[in-house]
Amino acid sequence: MRFDELGLAPELLRAVSDQGYATPTPIQAQAIPIVLAGRDLMGGSQTGTGKTAAFSLPLLQRILPLASASPSPARHPVRVLMLAPTRELAIQVYESVKLYSKYIPIRSCCVFGGVDIKPQFEEVRRGIEILVATPGRLLDLVEHRCVNFNQVQALVLDEADRMLDMGFIPDVTRIIQLLPPQRQNLLFSATFSEDIRKLADKMLTSPALVEVARRNTISEMITHRIHPVAAREKHALLTQLLQSPELDQALVFTGTKIETRRLARELQRAGISADSIHGDKTQQERLKALKAFKSGETRVLVATDVAARGLDIDDLPHVINYELPRTPEDYIHRIGRTGRAGRHGTAISLVSAEEFQYLASIEKLIKLEIEQVIVPGFEREDDFAASSTGKRSGSPAPEKSSRRQAAAKIREKKSRTETGDAVKAGFDFSKPYEYVEPASGLLAPAVDVSPKEHPPRARRPVAVLLGGIGKISD
Ligand code: AMP
Repeated sequence: MRFDELGLAPELLRAVSDQGYATPTPIQAQAIPIVLAGRDLMGGSQTGTGKTAAFSLPLLQRILPLASASPSPARHPVRVLMLAPTRELAIQVYESVKLYSKYIPIRSCCVFGGVDIKPQFEEVRRGIEILVATPGRLLDLVEHRCVNFNQVQALVLDEADRMLDMGFIPDVTRIIQLLPPQRQNLLFSATFSEDIRKLADKMLTSPALVEVARRNTISEMITHRIHPVAAREKHALLTQLLQSPELDQALVFTGTKIETRRLARELQRAGISADSIHGDKTQQERLKALKAFKSGETRVLVATDVAARGLDIDDLPHVINYELPRTPEDYIHRIGRTGRAGRHGTAISLVSAEEFQYLASIEKLIKLEIEQVIVPGFEREDDFAASSTGKRSGSPAPEKSSRRQAAAKIREKKSRTETGDAVKAGFDFSKPYEYVEPASGLLAPAVDVSPKEHPPRARRPVAVLLGGIGKISD
């Protein structure tokens, strides 16, 4: 499959070629024709799979006939609204849209909170066809009456699962109520929880379903490793691991902003160039930290789940879970920062006795028994002894029986390479740049819909479609 076989306009093909993209990624090959046809779409895809171009290119093409060279703001109404959960992701999406639209007279801009609203206000007022926004700031603009949604033809909800986690769904629902009812809707999510199904059911009409990964599977390009360690020894172990020349750069996840700050400071004191990224930092500080990390100036970036969401860091070799996430889906999000675009990556987790309960649910979700490696000097037994006598505080104590089971499990487990299991279990997230034919029956038949006509269609519960996927992936 080549880009020029997808029916895209020459100006868009030229922009794509400028980016050096040789072939469409699977999500692009599958989604672009569907979006061009005007259909609603549910995309199961994480960042790193090329999903931004998968929705931006066809939407740019759909509004291209309405493009105007006139300077008048009235000739540039908002036609496409793209919602993203974080400012980092919103900026990334916007930057991609700008690149893809460089040869066409379509204007775009990006609005997000945490910065002065005035310049955003001015930019929107000058007239823009594509508005990329975080939900809260968009509602601020609505309250200031500086944005009009009358001409909106398409809505994109990116990383819907994260929107849900961050509590943005009420805001998104409010925004949807302000849009014209006749419009195209695209929803992207890395995971499909019950809540996402409900949201998709409400938002989408007879959607096509495109998935480049089986639900909750992981890349075979990633090697996973666990280091069992007493909670109080984690810092020493991390510092020791980071002394290894192999661990040249790593994104380190912690559970809280406070821990993120503290850990970055401690690493700096140990002579390791480290910075942190979390919700309390200003936009400028976050972008600065990200830039220094991307350039290699900073070796270690310590992040919370929320701040790291949507970070597009090419060639990130290592992700370290300083603390295991409480939600198993977050493990998938975290490790999805490495092993991208066909490159190898390592996901290392420092796991204390109290955290083995979370490990069990992660392994269950990813259908993988992760290799456990004890680093000499960081043996685990005393940690288990301490936790089973209830001495430890601050962390949730597992049930006695499950604690025993967890301890027994560690002893029983033998080191083994796990990636083969993921491969056996299904397809294909591991090979994001290999085209995969959509499973027959999953996609409702495509219909030809011109940009202005969007005939009403019978609603069809998305849950039915997703149920179908569930069967395949089980
Ligand atoms: P996304 O999943 O949209 O965040 O994209 C991840 C990365 O893949 C970005 O750096 C894009 O520039 C890149 N990308 C998108 N499409 C392609 C393609 N067809 N070929 C190569 N790289 C791509």
